[in-house]
Amino acid sequence: MTARRCFIAGNWKMNKTVTESLALARELRGLVSMVRHVDIAVAPTFPALHPVAKALEDSNVQVAAQTCHAEASGAFTGETAAPMLKDAGASWVILGHSERRQFFQETDAGVNRKIGAVLKAGLLPIVCVGETLAEREANRTLEVVSTQVKGCLDGFKADVGARFVIAYEPVWAIGTGKTATSRQAQEVHAHIRSLLTGLWGAEAAAQVRLQYGGSVKPDNAAELLAQPDIDGALVGGASLKASDFAAIIKAKAQA
Ligand code: PEP
Repeated sequence: MTARRCFIAGNWKMNKTVTESLALARELRGLVSMVRHVDIAVAPTFPALHPVAKALEDSNVQVAAQTCHAEASGAFTGETAAPMLKDAGASWVILGHSERRQFFQETDAGVNRKIGAVLKAGLLPIVCVGETLAEREANRTLEVVSTQVKGCLDGFKADVGARFVIAYEPVWAIGTGKTATSRQAQEVHAHIRSLLTGLWGAEAAAQVRLQYGGSVKPDNAAELLAQPDIDGALVGGASLKASDFAAIIKAKAQA
């Protein structure tokens, strides 16, 4: 079996000025400089992305964008294209976050097009999927997640797919303080892994890193990260405090 490196990413959402983002990035850089066994990324707002990338140069913290447009340039007022993000210092782009789906009408087909743009620009996607509370209560979790994974990944082959990251983020656990139990999360992660095996074969599926997201905190990270198919975390609220985010990263050592 392929050993998957743990990957912990912090989604800063629409928080922090450029000055505050730089302070957070510098503090985090110092706190995690000795971490060797975990890949780390932070996703600042667009205005802060380039300065944060500069502040994190030659460190073990990479930079992600929170979304992008599917076209490389053009008359799309207010949007940002993947090649611009690459040039600004990003390595990753978060796509299909539930807030994008809820407030900005992002669809699986739209995410699918954006993945193409991200890859073309030399970046890698973190593709978010997850069910709402109503869908979980109706026992539709696996069906909903299957539709999202298949729709988002449609047309991509195993050779590139193996480098993707998929974040399972139950919508009811995002920013609510409610975390999926490690058992609930592992069940969905194992399901996603089996879907990927169907799409791309066992070898590629074993390389895809699956992050869990939804109220991950320093005190619940170790148990989640100890699950066999949980290869990291996408962290919202707790990534806004360097000491909490660093504690989540270091929790991997105890997992
Ligand atoms: C997120 O926004 O991706 C997220 C998981 O947020 P939180 O950790 O705050 O639940």
